[in-house]
Amino acid sequence: MSLYLPILMYHQIGEPPPGEKTILFVSVKTFREQLTFLTERGFEAVTPDQLDAALQLRPGAQLPPKPFMITLDDADMRKLSPALEVLSDLGMAAVGYFIAGDPGSLPAPGNIDDLRKLRFVAGSHGLTHRPLTELSAEALRNELTESKLRLETRMGYPVVHLCYPHGSHGPREVQAAGEAGYQTALSTRRGNRHRRSQALRLKRLAIRPHTDRRRLGRYLSLAWHLEHGIKETLGLEKRGAKR
Ligand SMILES: [Zn+2]
Repeated sequence: MSLYLPILMYHQIGEPPPGEKTILFVSVKTFREQLTFLTERGFEAVTPDQLDAALQLRPGAQLPPKPFMITLDDADMRKLSPALEVLSDLGMAAVGYFIAGDPGSLPAPGNIDDLRKLRFVAGSHGLTHRPLTELSAEALRNELTESKLRLETRMGYPVVHLCYPHGSHGPREVQAAGEAGYQTALSTRRGNRHRRSQALRLKRLAIRPHTDRRRLGRYLSLAWHLEHGIKETLGLEKRGAKR
């Protein structure tokens, strides 16, 4: 049995500075429109803890009838204000994956309470954003455990949600993520349904600057999920965002 819970993959919300990859930027206006579209369809944003509890069938786990999750890769507090304002206006939970080795990008102690009120959760995007599959076993372990520790020290709560930098993962990384204490981990594989056994390699929907209502509607469908599942099985699936 699988759990229907579309996970939206965003990077930066705002206008790209000159020279930056525009595909990773969604304007504030588009971000608001996309989330409003989901609200109109009856979707409600949940936290990764809610997703985790439902996936693991924990007692008391509760999800709204149509749950979805908002994820922000390469989260950086220096650039996050526009996204947080939209999330606050719409009352939506979200999770930001921080590169823990960049202290300037992390929430300042004075922001932690505000983020908690917004139901904005911090997850790990590694220590240095290097592709984990290219690292030695020791470096891999360090990326996972040291980033977790630094974020926990900053946030004051257990950091149990991971997003693989560049989507780079295989069986070794999945096992290491579990051993490091992560409960969920996000990949860039495409899909909108999840199995319990895949909590450490969850699928997502890559949201682009040009993702309009029609395309977003398609991403929410079973047909889209199955199409990518089949392509992946056949080895035809292209990788998602390389960041
Ligand atoms: Zn990234």
